[in-house]
Amino acid sequence: MTRLRILFLATVTWASATALHAAIRVTPVPPTTATNDFYVSNARPLTPSPLIKLPIGSVKPEGWLRRQLELQADGFLGHLTEISAFLKKDGNAWLAANGEGHSPWEELPYWLKGFGDNGYVLNDQRIIDEAKVWIEGILGSRQADGWFGPVANRTGAGDNKKAPDLWPNMVALNALQTYYEYTSDPRVLELMQEYFKWELTLSDKDFLPPFWQQQRAGDNLASVYWLYNRTGREFLLQLAEKIQRNMADWTETVASWHNVNIAQCFRAPAVYYQQSRDPYFLQATERNYAMVWGTYGQVPGGMFCGDENCRRGYYGPRQGIETCASVEFMLSCEMLLQIAGDLTWADRCEDVAFNTFPPAMTADLKGLHYLVSPNQCQLDSGNKAPGIQNGGDMFSYDPHSYRCCQHNASHGWPYFAESLWMATPDNGLAAVFYAASEVTAKVGNGKQVTIQTKTQYPFEDTIRLAVSADRPVKFPLYLRVPGWCEKPVLRINGKNTPVHAEPRTFIVVDRQWKDGDSLELVFPMELRLRYWIRSGNSVCVDRGPLTYSLQIGEKYVREGGTDRWPGFEVYPTTAWNYGLVIDPTKPLAKQFEVRTKGWPADDQPFATGAAPIVIKAQARKIPNWQADAQGLIAEVQSSPVRSEEPVETVTLIPMGAARLRISAFPWIGEGPNATEWRAPRGRARIPATASHCWESDTTAALSDGDLPTHSNDQGVARFTWWPHKGTKEWVQYDFKEPRTLRGVEVYWFDDTATGGGCRTPQSWTLRYKDGDQWKDVPTLSACGVEKDKFNRAAFGEVKTSALRIEVQLQPDCSAGILEWRIE
Ligand SMILES: [Zn+2]
Repeated sequence: MTRLRILFLATVTWASATALHAAIRVTPVPPTTATNDFYVSNARPLTPSPLIKLPIGSVKPEGWLRRQLELQADGFLGHLTEISAFLKKDGNAWLAANGEGHSPWEELPYWLKGFGDNGYVLNDQRIIDEAKVWIEGILGSRQADGWFGPVANRTGAGDNKKAPDLWPNMVALNALQTYYEYTSDPRVLELMQEYFKWELTLSDKDFLPPFWQQQRAGDNLASVYWLYNRTGREFLLQLAEKIQRNMADWTETVASWHNVNIAQCFRAPAVYYQQSRDPYFLQATERNYAMVWGTYGQVPGGMFCGDENCRRGYYGPRQGIETCASVEFMLSCEMLLQIAGDLTWADRCEDVAFNTFPPAMTADLKGLHYLVSPNQCQLDSGNKAPGIQNGGDMFSYDPHSYRCCQHNASHGWPYFAESLWMATPDNGLAAVFYAASEVTAKVGNGKQVTIQTKTQYPFEDTIRLAVSADRPVKFPLYLRVPGWCEKPVLRINGKNTPVHAEPRTFIVVDRQWKDGDSLELVFPMELRLRYWIRSGNSVCVDRGPLTYSLQIGEKYVREGGTDRWPGFEVYPTTAWNYGLVIDPTKPLAKQFEVRTKGWPADDQPFATGAAPIVIKAQARKIPNWQADAQGLIAEVQSSPVRSEEPVETVTLIPMGAARLRISAFPWIGEGPNATEWRAPRGRARIPATASHCWESDTTAALSDGDLPTHSNDQGVARFTWWPHKGTKEWVQYDFKEPRTLRGVEVYWFDDTATGGGCRTPQSWTLRYKDGDQWKDVPTLSACGVEKDKFNRAAFGEVKTSALRIEVQLQPDCSAGILEWRIE
């Protein structure tokens, strides 16, 4: 938001509806001239907090949000001690008073911070008791010098491997903080204080060396401020400066292109802004956002293309985002709202919470996967590299795998639920996110008030608030207007109350509230199209905060796991290769039909068949749009796209309800600008086998017609014998019908320039199959091993059913082939 706009809006105040005795004004950010009398907010010299987190337990979610938390409690996250080896209590380093034992790293604290909060928010005694066991383990591990937690983390980092790795403890502190909010257990403040004193004794050289702890030290910083606001101890501000000095530089640059680092660390300069008071740091966070999302975030769903790391050339909607990154980004938004109060972060948070995060897990929250992509046509366990960066299974739903996400996903819904309502500096309350809930808090002159929210938002445009209070109490009630809403409607006690609020502002109703008062907000949800120019000019369909995706028939196929905790692959049972038919001359309401269905009886709207709103749209199939040989959806090509297929009516459902989905659609055109969809690449034209192929590579690369630009081209699929080194190896084509051949061309892979272990082979030769026997091809010319070109080898004509390249690898090196052509 521009400074000018803030100034302008801040001055828009008017009294209205005098009969209601309400002063109604509009503001982009709650003013920070006062300090909230009842809840802990930033203490001087930190910048004042425009929005203040309420202690855990103040907000009781209802409706679909409560249902997510209940499903999570019953699902793999609520029972992860049965599933994860990292949470086996016997001999666990996080339970030992001396910190000795197994699993000392991030997994336990990752899980515990969301697991405990899940219990506190739901008031679920089983979870609270289970979390307590681990909290006691952590509290009991305090050492005389201030250190706590697994002893293995005290060393192992830095050049000499003697510096501590503080990252796991950063996460553990988050678990302790909400436990403290819930119990006021003084041991938490003591532990944190002594631990931070110990951090202050470390030399800068041994403090936060690479990698994860240096990247993510903004988390340590936030916990230092949390403690400062509760104790006022001056040394904490010194420590904060030391953390800022030693952490990775997220202020001047994007310090890492790892997807979770980005989602978690782009906020770090804004965290430090609270101490520096220099807006430069606040702006650095927005600059990080603009830099990452401006390039890699040109897709629906609110996240960016980062299927492990952001990679040049991988910008489209088939790229994925890690589940860890979705929950970390939601947390970043929740923190930034408290730091700066800019409601842009509320819109960005809802985008991810409603569209990208829910399908990271199965609808029963009993399985999860690593990567969610806006376009995903099949979730099998097969390798998708190099289209997706990591080799191996990234897509199938499984509660046993995806080590980090499996534990870290736990805080997504609990933290979101805790953030629905926040306190304001003027002793008011702010509705920051909308979901059915009940909030109880102290307001005004210290009286307690309860506000019940009834709504099925984001599946409904109306939000009904009901006030309960023993005695009338005057306080300002802040109501967020979402960024997509142009004309909010406000009714107080049934009476229309005129209000002129721009998107992304708060309507503030400052009045004497009494028991039984009611308030109704309507945020009319209009259909909108967003075009993603960088992603093939594709289009997505939005309505309110929800993006809608093509409904694809889903077939779940059991894949591994146990009977109690099974894994599943998901295969499409209906066509998905559609382009939307859009007529720019007609209003959207005439082209798309919005249909509301009944609310699901089990309160879980994020399930394929259960979505309470569907949209009917017109579309044509694009026959050449296919999955590749690995089952990975082909990237969208440039729209408009020509199609001669008949127009069909298709169903769109909320993206968050679709486990298989098309969210960024090509669209159909006819004019001279319309393009033909090119036939699929990346498919093997000739079946091939080999003595060995690395799991992330494929023999399909040999004949996929996808030509490299140089021998270290990481943008095309490849075949390698990795990690075999110095051995004799072979790879062969098997022809369906015998073929007459007289030469080959081989493009060798060589990644030694970037530190890889594949180089051109020492030598190679060709043999062909004659009946059951392998024979040397006759009169073979020289077999070249030059880089960055095809090496042609000619031979006397043979007719054969199979042709084989035999290689001798160089000592200590492996080898690979990017393309193999035959003549
Ligand atoms: Zn993860």
